[in-house]
Amino acid sequence: MKPAFNTPSWMLAALDERRRQDLMRHTVTLDSPQVPHTQINGQRYTAFCSNDYLGLANHPSLIRAMQQSADEYGVGGGSSHLVAGHLTPHHRLEEALAEWLGYERVLLFSTGYMANLGVISALANKQRPVIQDKLNHASLIDGAQLAQAPMRRYLHATPLSAKKLMMKSEQSGLLVTDGVFSMDGDIAPLSELSDLASQYDWTFMVDDAHGLGCLGEKGRGSLALSDLAMAQVPLLMGTFGKAFGTSGAFVATTRDFADYLTQFARPYVYTTSMSPAMAGASLAALELICSQEGEDRRVRLAEHIAYFRQRVASLPVELMVSKTAIQPIVIGDSSTALAVSEQLKAFGIWCTAIRPPTVPKGKARLRITLSAGHSKQDLVLLCDALEQVLTAK
Ligand SMILES: *Cc1c(COP(=O)(O)O)cnc(C)c1O
Repeated sequence: MKPAFNTPSWMLAALDERRRQDLMRHTVTLDSPQVPHTQINGQRYTAFCSNDYLGLANHPSLIRAMQQSADEYGVGGGSSHLVAGHLTPHHRLEEALAEWLGYERVLLFSTGYMANLGVISALANKQRPVIQDKLNHASLIDGAQLAQAPMRRYLHATPLSAKKLMMKSEQSGLLVTDGVFSMDGDIAPLSELSDLASQYDWTFMVDDAHGLGCLGEKGRGSLALSDLAMAQVPLLMGTFGKAFGTSGAFVATTRDFADYLTQFARPYVYTTSMSPAMAGASLAALELICSQEGEDRRVRLAEHIAYFRQRVASLPVELMVSKTAIQPIVIGDSSTALAVSEQLKAFGIWCTAIRPPTVPKGKARLRITLSAGHSKQDLVLLCDALEQVLTAK
């Protein structure tokens, strides 16, 4: 019998190429919630690669809030925010986020990827360029492409390089940076960048997906560390998929920017609102983040980070400058990174190797992430295993 469909040869070639370079990716299925002690393919592992930095993804308060919200408002948003999909849990969440961060308005998005596409494609165009950090998240790069805006990327975390690009640009536009860099864990020089933005009249946008919830007073993120607010950063993007432990995203901004985005951000206008049950869970996450329990979790996370860095300092690897929950160990080539990740499994540790194109060529790494959900014993297990694996080579 003839096959029903012939896979195009260009596709098979692209897949072969990825396999040959040890860059093939595939999903694995967790047979457990997103918790440090996971079960994968029937085996138990302690996982060190999720973004659930505060250990909220399986928190009973969030589960209860989601159930309550679903009881009261159902599970489906039913339409876009502007047609009839903006329900009370969405509204409450927006108001609470605005209050928490000191912004006039907040708009919810289904995902962080969509929020970045939405904001940049609405605010940049052929006449309004985008300047952004070389290591910014893929969704920020893709936003500039969707906008068809001229885009220049400055040297990672180097304000002088950003300044040169601004001086060269005939028009002003958007200056965009991650708050905490997702693959390196370092924090952007936000004060210097915000000074440059005001000096050259560019609009400054910060994507704080990895800072919110974890850093600063009451978990207000990277901006709080530098004492920045709406006046200096009119666009602050945050996600719920990391420290919040849920999913979705938001943009905190001024009244006028919010009005503008509501008209012109196509990934806001032409998509169904997030589930109201999820909005209820995210509101519970925010309450927890601002509470004493949130503070306790941030303290525990900071203790884990300090212990990890002190142990790994004596190993023959280079630690990055990160003070955050993201503590990468750069291995180099992809096959070695895969092999190290494989060896860690024998010690009961799960840490997926991160390879190009997510990170630059020759910079494949173990992107180790720590969580308040880990115990001290989990950290000891990780550091003992790393010692064995990295000194054996
Ligand atoms: C995860 C992430 C996003 C995308 O957010 P999602 O809600 O997962 O789509 C955007 N920016 C940064 C810096 C991220 O780490």
